[in-house]
Amino acid sequence: MDLKSFIRDIDDFPQQGVTFKDIIPLLLDANAMRKTSKMLFDMIGETKIDKVIGMESRGFFFAPLLADKLNAGFVPVRKPGKLPFEKISHAYGLEYGTDILEMHTDSILRGEKVLIHDDVLATGGTAAAVCKLVEQLGGEIVQCNFLIELEFLKGREKLSDYNVRSLLKY
Ligand code: IMP
Repeated sequence: MDLKSFIRDIDDFPQQGVTFKDIIPLLLDANAMRKTSKMLFDMIGETKIDKVIGMESRGFFFAPLLADKLNAGFVPVRKPGKLPFEKISHAYGLEYGTDILEMHTDSILRGEKVLIHDDVLATGGTAAAVCKLVEQLGGEIVQCNFLIELEFLKGREKLSDYNVRSLLKY
């Protein structure tokens, strides 16, 4: 099964000049979804993982499935103003302006082994911000795990201190 055949290109979304990789067709197909979560899991290796982090919002599709397979907890990282409890924040630069990501302070215990998952690695700014949050809480990042890597945007360079794995490269 060619998983790339379930990824749809949407031109000029969310803005002019951007081609957006839409993974929803892959979510709609039971076999493609199952195969994707198995292949993402197979990239992880043998290290015991305590927590799997998913980034709002498309990181939420597969991160809990991976957490279940790994017998790990799931940690949602959210956009500002969504989390109800005590939290830490990290601001990061976008092409135009900045964005903020937040995590509850009790999400990760010092020394816990953490897997970070998101649907797409583009410029790497989002994942690098999440790495900062995890390290602020004393977590140890075992892998940054992505469904799709847009290699031409060189996001890996921002994550050069970490073990980065992606399933589908463009
Ligand atoms: P980065 O911070 O530039 O690496 O962008 C990654 C974030 O933007 C991820 O959370 C993705 O969900 C989202 N993203 C960027 N490009 C795409 C895309 O083509 N399809 C879906 N999500 C994308």
